[in-house]
Amino acid sequence: MNYTDRIARQVAGIPRSGIRDFFELVLGRDDVISLGVGEPDYSAPWHIREAAIYSLEKGQTSYTSNLGLLSLRKSIAAYVAKHFSVAYNPANEILVTVGVSEALDIACRALLNPGDEVIYHEPCYVSYSPSIAMAHGVPVVAETRVEDNFELKADAVAEKITPRTKLLMLNFPTNPTGAVQPAGELEKIAALAIQHDLIVISDEIYSELTYGGEDGMDRGEHTSIAGLPGMKERTILLHGFSKAFAMTGFRLGYACAPAELTEAMMKIHQYAMLCAPIMSQAAGIEALEHGDGPVEEMRRSYAQRRNLMLRRFAEMGVPCFPPGGAFYAFPDVRKFGLTSKEFALRLLEEESVAVVPGNAFGAAGEGLVRACYATAFDRLEVALERIGNFVSRLKA
Ligand code: PLP
Repeated sequence: MNYTDRIARQVAGIPRSGIRDFFELVLGRDDVISLGVGEPDYSAPWHIREAAIYSLEKGQTSYTSNLGLLSLRKSIAAYVAKHFSVAYNPANEILVTVGVSEALDIACRALLNPGDEVIYHEPCYVSYSPSIAMAHGVPVVAETRVEDNFELKADAVAEKITPRTKLLMLNFPTNPTGAVQPAGELEKIAALAIQHDLIVISDEIYSELTYGGEDGMDRGEHTSIAGLPGMKERTILLHGFSKAFAMTGFRLGYACAPAELTEAMMKIHQYAMLCAPIMSQAAGIEALEHGDGPVEEMRRSYAQRRNLMLRRFAEMGVPCFPPGGAFYAFPDVRKFGLTSKEFALRLLEEESVAVVPGNAFGAAGEGLVRACYATAFDRLEVALERIGNFVSRLKA
């Protein structure tokens, strides 16, 4: 059978993730140190795992409300009020999802009609453009640049606004660049959203992992666009447990939004997913209520590894702007005269270190590579040693 014309056009048109393509090359190679996967090297803290175990022991193996356990939604409301200074009603403004991945998908599907345009910033997380396209929307890129420390300039957004623009998608701190957005520029973007009557989807999954102070060891400032004047009513705030709490496998996230938007997303979630796993939701309550200490410990450890990366790249003469958040370094390798992909492939072949070519995150990432430093300190040191050997050969 010829399947080509059976597959939906908007799906057939989506390229496979560049990360996946690259990592098929790494599979089965034990000699490789991977700085590729965007995942904490920690297991979830023990008290969180225990909460999931206890939930099972109690026989909690049922569905929950489609919105998620009310007790979890109450914990989310308290956590978001404390950390983001925005108040959401747990009864109808919070939806528990299967990771931020599902939340992104259903937010797009709930809001987009065919042909609606969505502005998002690149380089960005690989699922943004496909999530828009699968919802029949039109992805429109506003580029961020290394020269601006990958901040999103309000002017770059303004240039892309047309009468068809419906949504603006933001992600700060940003995967893959580690950029954080200064509050002043965020305010200008909020003003644009209000002026042009746009809805904002703000993915703040890395918001706990920020590096401030002289040496990057303090927790940096994070401003949520949802908390700016006039923005709560037009923002869908997405957050989850995967990164800060090291809970990727629990598949748990949430969307906070005005009741009518929450209801629209809930309808898709109800039919496509029904609910997030109950034992993950039980673990989520524990994470939000007692997880701040372990999160801070992990954040400080990432900060040390970030500083190691920056020090070593500087010694190698590889330009790398100091990331203000997440756990990625995004060094600029243009001076070696190789494309991102050539650099990454040769580094893998010659030194057995895997990094992701920057253009896997959009054309604006060309000339850079993403190195995730959520990797054990000693392995990171070896990986950096090997990268040093590689670039000194390139320079010779
Ligand atoms: N958003 C961003 C920016 C990410 O980097 C990731 C994962 O890498 C996700 C969302 C997906 O998160 P989740 O595990 O909650 O689905």
